[in-house]
Amino acid sequence: MKILVTGGAGYIGSHTCKALAAAGHEVIVYDNLSTGFRKLAKWGECIRGDILDEEKLRACLHTHKPEGIIHFAAFSQVGESVSNPDRYIRNNVGGTLNILESMRDTGVRNIVVSSTAAVYGIPEHCPITEDMPAHPINPYGETKLFMEWMLTDFARAYGISWTALRYFNAAGADPESECGECHTPETHLIPRALMAVTGELKDFRIMGSDYPTQDGTCIRDYIHVSDLAAAHVLAMERLHSEASGQGFSLNLGTGTGLSVKEILHAVEQVTARRLAYTTGERRAGDPPVLVADGTRAQEILHWTPRRSRVDTIIEDAWNWHVSGRDMVIRAD
Ligand code: UDP
Repeated sequence: MKILVTGGAGYIGSHTCKALAAAGHEVIVYDNLSTGFRKLAKWGECIRGDILDEEKLRACLHTHKPEGIIHFAAFSQVGESVSNPDRYIRNNVGGTLNILESMRDTGVRNIVVSSTAAVYGIPEHCPITEDMPAHPINPYGETKLFMEWMLTDFARAYGISWTALRYFNAAGADPESECGECHTPETHLIPRALMAVTGELKDFRIMGSDYPTQDGTCIRDYIHVSDLAAAHVLAMERLHSEASGQGFSLNLGTGTGLSVKEILHAVEQVTARRLAYTTGERRAGDPPVLVADGTRAQEILHWTPRRSRVDTIIEDAWNWHVSGRDMVIRAD
């Protein structure tokens, strides 16, 4: 297949492009490079374009006639979405609407989109299944949920087929260190912990140690980015073979939760370095526990997480941190 990947120069997007190319598909990246890196868009042609640029997007679909779209391009910082909701709504909702309208008008029928565990808000219990109520507690989660509703509407009205993949905590890096996480600023736990052990980050803090968990710190379900990438390829191949004109949402997680302290311990083990930390206030909007029930994705996509053991995740992230990350950021 020929697949257009919006946000293909970003973290999960670049790993998915590599997985698509490895499975024999042709990749076209469509990315405005605002948070992505051209150096990470190396598995196909890279078109610099914005999903808000409706004309360019439509022209791109018209020219390239992809069999499907995998849509990553979005803003994804929870805190920023609280202070700038308009920006998030315009980009995540407005941008997705442009994509869906362009698909309808150019006859592209299949789309896989990145969604998030943030659609659930604070779940009543864990593990979380897809039919539990979605009550997002920040604008980021709201925009992703609205995006799923738009997909439902477009499927019904125009026969578009879709899969929304609700990621839990994406982590790790390509096992061959060809791509990995490079956010600026970096807010995520594992890369920040790695920056702390190298001395790049002087004031690493655990954000909240009074949660109702066994060690008082938040529990998350960390899933290797290469496992996420594999799920996108399977989801797109499935849409292509079934052409069903419908869609659904699937959790992508391992079903196992780890606390912040357990992650920090694993970082010390893998890097064989000491990690100095302080303990501070909770971060606003952090649910105490988020763990996926990933059964539905495993059944429907025939997908199994393969690299999501915590030591493998941290080993891959560490290798990327010391070998590839700086080069990509500097080259930009
Ligand atoms: N966290 C932390 N210190 C940091 C960064 C994150 O204690 O410097 C905690 C955060 O409060 C959350 C967990 O680590 O409980 C995972 O956070 P991350 O930002 O990686 O992912 P999120 O769960 O917010 O998507």
